Amino acid sequence: MDYTIFPKLFVSVFTFLFGIVIGSFLNVLIYRIPKGENFVNENSHCMSCNHRLYAKDLVPLFSWLLLGGKCRYCKAKISVQYPIVEALTGAAFTAIYWLTMDCKINLAFVGYCAAFSALLVTAVIDFRTMEIPDSMWITVFVGALFVYAQELINDGGFNFNCFLTRFIGIFAASGVLFLLALISKGGMGGGDIKLMAACGFLLGWKQVILALIMGAAIGTLYLILTAVKNKGKVPRKVPFAPHLSVAVVICFFAGEKIINWYLDMCGIAPLDTCCVLNLLG
Ligand SMILES: [Zn+2]
Repeated sequence: MDYTIFPKLFVSVFTFLFGIVIGSFLNVLIYRIPKGENFVNENSHCMSCNHRLYAKDLVPLFSWLLLGGKCRYCKAKISVQYPIVEALTGAAFTAIYWLTMDCKINLAFVGYCAAFSALLVTAVIDFRTMEIPDSMWITVFVGALFVYAQELINDGGFNFNCFLTRFIGIFAASGVLFLLALISKGGMGGGDIKLMAACGFLLGWKQVILALIMGAAIGTLYLILTAVKNKGKVPRKVPFAPHLSVAVVICFFAGEKIINWYLDMCGIAPLDTCCVLNLLG
């Protein structure tokens, strides 16, 4: 029996609780950024009855579960989006902890959590409003800088190839989207381009291209399912960022594995491990 698992499980529980607290803050951002509202010093209110909400109403995840998804005061239904965002953030932070826990000074944890949070907020806001706030792709880029700082520490200094992998990543997927925007005369949003530039520095060029391909595949699947649901009617405009965000997060955890699995199937030697913290292997 490996007893070193217990401290890790203990930290995992705290990481999950930390994640759901951050998740409830992300819900505030999702709601208030598109309205241009101040999201720091305003009290929370029920959106149906406008009753002020107190600490007992705002415990992330648990308040929603205990109140059965209803407002304590007017019994109006509270969107299931709130607990889903909180639970997803808790689960993702815990997974990122397991991904990065062998790092000594854990800047990668901070970087990936920041990037995940910004991608989640971007996905929901783009889905609802077709807009990508600048503050969110900038947050992904700042998160990427933290992850890169971790790579410098792990490598024991500057490695030109690793830097180049990330630098090319800035243009790899965003360049393709930029060309699509030119060809389609605005069919592709500028927000998607900036978002994928930031994700490129986070993932490096190989993984960000994989994320773009996967995002397009997930988006196509979404279109087909929507068309089936609406009896053949396809929506004229579809947000791309939610699908890209899902693909980028999959690449956080398994991008290198997917690429090497594919290369192996083609009988090609695996890639070098630049831009991967190499902790999943
Ligand atoms: Zn209410």
